[in-house]
Amino acid sequence: MATLNSIPEPVNEPVLGYAPGSPERAKLWARLADMKSRALDMPLFIGGEEVRTGRRGEVRAPYDHGLLLGRAHEGGKAEVARAIAAALKARREWSHWPLAARAAVFLKAADLLAGDWRWTLNAATMLGQSKNAHQAEIDAACELIDFLRFNAKFAERIHAEQPLSPRGSWNRLEQRPLEGFVLAVTPFNFTAIAGNLPCAPALMGNAVVWKPSALALYSAHFIMRLLEAAGLPPGVINLVHGDPAEVVGAAVDHPEFAGLHFTGSTAVFRGLWARVGANMERYRGYPRLVGETGGKDFVLAHSSADPEALAAALVRGAFEYQGQKCSAASRAYVPADLWPKVRKTMKDMIASIEVGSPEDPGCFVNAVIGRAAFDKIGGFVDRAKKNKSNKLVAGGTRDDKTGYFVAPTVFETADPKSETMVSEIFGPVLTVHPYPEAKWKETLRLVDETSPYALTGAVFARERAALVEAERALENAAGNLYINDKPTGAVVGQQPFGGARASGTNDKAGSALNLLRWTSPRAIKETFDPPRDYRYPWVGRDAR
Ligand code: NAD
Repeated sequence: MATLNSIPEPVNEPVLGYAPGSPERAKLWARLADMKSRALDMPLFIGGEEVRTGRRGEVRAPYDHGLLLGRAHEGGKAEVARAIAAALKARREWSHWPLAARAAVFLKAADLLAGDWRWTLNAATMLGQSKNAHQAEIDAACELIDFLRFNAKFAERIHAEQPLSPRGSWNRLEQRPLEGFVLAVTPFNFTAIAGNLPCAPALMGNAVVWKPSALALYSAHFIMRLLEAAGLPPGVINLVHGDPAEVVGAAVDHPEFAGLHFTGSTAVFRGLWARVGANMERYRGYPRLVGETGGKDFVLAHSSADPEALAAALVRGAFEYQGQKCSAASRAYVPADLWPKVRKTMKDMIASIEVGSPEDPGCFVNAVIGRAAFDKIGGFVDRAKKNKSNKLVAGGTRDDKTGYFVAPTVFETADPKSETMVSEIFGPVLTVHPYPEAKWKETLRLVDETSPYALTGAVFARERAALVEAERALENAAGNLYINDKPTGAVVGQQPFGGARASGTNDKAGSALNLLRWTSPRAIKETFDPPRDYRYPWVGRDAR
């Protein structure tokens, strides 16, 4: 078996361009056509078996509700119990495999995904989650490959970090997995997060029950198939889909529950935290709770900002993947002297954006994830239109005839505490508050105090002193701060990701910090020549 320091040094997976006429475009579109041609029967995966309960829900493409992608079997309490039993059984062997053997499984998955599986997982993400080719590529292919490769290296470094051993003894730190099973609960908006949340604890030797989002079941199915192809032993990751409260509740209430790896909304995570707290007496230990949750991410411009760079960052940051990124720009503060120029540039940019199917490479913006999101985002837009403090700058329309399309929408507001400046919308809606340029300091405070979240934020300025001041004033306003860049697009190994306050436990996915949450270290001291007398040299009186 391989030794420590043998895991290859990772580099970020190159992002393919999908330009017209490129080989990658041909391959991806061929896979799309093939996958669209048949509806899948999607089982649960428990202990390496495909489990079909017969209770099935339909999975349809958000951009074309006439397109049936498959039918997914739903599980309940019984399937959760079965999945936990399978995980605990698999854990007995898996947890004792050398790290190199476990890492090899995930490194192989990364290599498969960098090859022919790339087209499958990208196509699944386009069809099931309505991402265009670029958004699918940076997520389902590149970010997931990076998570798999970088985590293997981070895990190796964690194992290599050992205590001092003075002569005569040997001290070792052993990275044990948590005692019990880990529950992974994943959101709809990133295939990479869906893959990483079960895989990161599994890499550290844990066995996992995975509850994917009902809105991303199609790509979840192919993640399980990819892991199977990479040789993941049966039962190490078990996929159970069903009513979220029932499935997640049954797992959290189980006495062997040892940890939760969650990404999703703040309200759901808070509810689970409270439930775990109420259950404390029934657990063996103190479960690890890792939750990356909501955001209300800001862009703050100083008078010295470059207006064109600012406009481009706002358009990309707010509207890529329809604003359904936890990091999406959704409130902006622009000095009044800069705003007319920025507004004009943004309006021109938005006028050139086409909204439509991700299968049409002319469309920069595609459908939102489903009916509930469409209605919720629409509600925010309708209320904002009625608010007398607001002016509609762009968009404001929506259309659900074929799919769930919401136009990229910008409001200008005189009220920096109006609803769309404060609440997480999770859609393509940006609100800009033009502030008097002399009120820079007050605006720094406003940015910090407006939202309970603290996930991402961006500051645009060309004056260094303004940046220094902003970095300090906004110290706790974001876990990921960007300077003269959009607040989205964190890359594994480059910008460890996560926020604090209501945005989560800030355990930084894509770094060693996250992996440390999935181990319970044991320190072992061995003494080579132990003393045979209880007395230390100091015991005894001086001769008189
Ligand atoms: P969500 O909270 O609706 O769902 C997340 C997961 O929780 C899903 O698997 C869902 O089925 C499950 N769930 C829902 N209700 C539940 C309940 N009552 N009990 C137990 N489980 C339940 O979130 P979503 O719509 O899938 O994702 C969007 C949210 O995720 C946004 O708030 C976004 O900011 C956040 N997010 C955060 C990050 C981050 O890194 N901070 C990354 C991606 C998404």
